[in-house]
Amino acid sequence: MKIKFCGAAKTVTGSCYYIEACNRKFLIDCGMFQGSKEELNRVEFPFNPKDLDFIILTHAHIDHSGRIPLLIKKGFRGSIYCTSATSELVNIMLKDSAHIQEKEALWENKKRLRKGLETVEPLYKMEDAERVEEYIYPLSYGKIERIDENISFILKDAGHLLGSSIVLLKVRENGRTKTITFTGDLGNFNIPIIRDYEYIDETDYLIIESTYGNREHEEGKESKDLYNIIIDTIDRGGNVIIPSFAVGRTQEILYLLNYYIDIEKRKKFKNVEIYLDSPLGVQATEIFEKHKECYDEEALKLLNNDIDPINFDNLNIIKTSDESMALNEKKGVVIISSSGMCEAGRIKHHLKHNIWREEASIVFVGYQAEGTLGRKILDGAKEVSIFGEKMVVKAKIHSIQGLSGHADVNGILNWVKNIKNGIKECIFITHGEIEAQESLKYNLKSISKADIIIPDMYEEYNI
Ligand SMILES: [Zn+2]
Repeated sequence: MKIKFCGAAKTVTGSCYYIEACNRKFLIDCGMFQGSKEELNRVEFPFNPKDLDFIILTHAHIDHSGRIPLLIKKGFRGSIYCTSATSELVNIMLKDSAHIQEKEALWENKKRLRKGLETVEPLYKMEDAERVEEYIYPLSYGKIERIDENISFILKDAGHLLGSSIVLLKVRENGRTKTITFTGDLGNFNIPIIRDYEYIDETDYLIIESTYGNREHEEGKESKDLYNIIIDTIDRGGNVIIPSFAVGRTQEILYLLNYYIDIEKRKKFKNVEIYLDSPLGVQATEIFEKHKECYDEEALKLLNNDIDPINFDNLNIIKTSDESMALNEKKGVVIISSSGMCEAGRIKHHLKHNIWREEASIVFVGYQAEGTLGRKILDGAKEVSIFGEKMVVKAKIHSIQGLSGHADVNGILNWVKNIKNGIKECIFITHGEIEAQESLKYNLKSISKADIIIPDMYEEYNI
């Protein structure tokens, strides 16, 4: 069998593995390249999408799913297998992504026309994203799914995002069955709402992520910090603006706001108006509400006590843009909005109305990539430009540490150490910057006898 690394090789984004085995051709994930690798989205796939039999999708994040509409645009007509929660999340995320692609192309073309240049097509359109649903087969965790007599797979909980999974692929070739395990993204311990990752018993080959392969997360005291910032800000009459990724992080923040505060503090907190102003975030929250089969013990315990972990009396859901605009007049409220790095969406309006107020607070709860508006604010810029208008930064800027969707180096090594019968043949390290990969390789050598490879983009192996 053949495996080709078509993304997330010596980089974090664009996860895509192409496999040929037993006369089948298929993918594990087909993600979008982001940030500095973005131009790779426009490079031809090193396989013909029409020839693919199926895709197994580890989870809904765009860097794992974002090029699926492009595959459909280019003739893919096979099945897409993933968990039930992933099938719903990926549906809203890909439509959102298509919307962004169309909008960006429109902007780009306006500029190009003014310069007399040729216009560009969006990477894909809404109609391509809408078709993804037709090909999706939602599955449960832990069941053996048979493609045919030679190929089967099982999805295990990866503890990273609602519905996220580790894929255990079994291929029978020349009378021998080999297991190839794809970790997808491995979750951090104790992510609110969802369960921690599951372990596996054994594997011949392991394709493992390494996002934080050289970093240790700080111990979490995030809920206390968040609470104190909110109370202090509201006491001085300011608004708390929380830029948050719509899917996953937003629901974690709702959970923290609802649950971790002790009963005494809760009394004061009950009068605080909290607004969720993110259309995608609202849709995602509804999907989280629906998929209680993914909840961990703590969240289930709340449910048993009639407490909805991600909904509470003082949470207000914003639906229309008029309602969103009405928030401009509010004082002493909490606004959770997207995008998480402040590059697009309604968050930019809320920043425009609050960033220059010294009584306001901006609270970052997620990673801010280099070059984004969020990163500039977080790095202490005295002045930023929002919608072309220069604004002075007077609001207090906070960053809540400890909220990460990814396992850190200890979390990754712990997962590998717990593979009961070990890894027999080889480990491929993917989904990380090269420093993180090298560091993880060094650490893995001390706990596994398997060969360890850091594959290059488009590199191919016979296994
Ligand atoms: Zn992910």
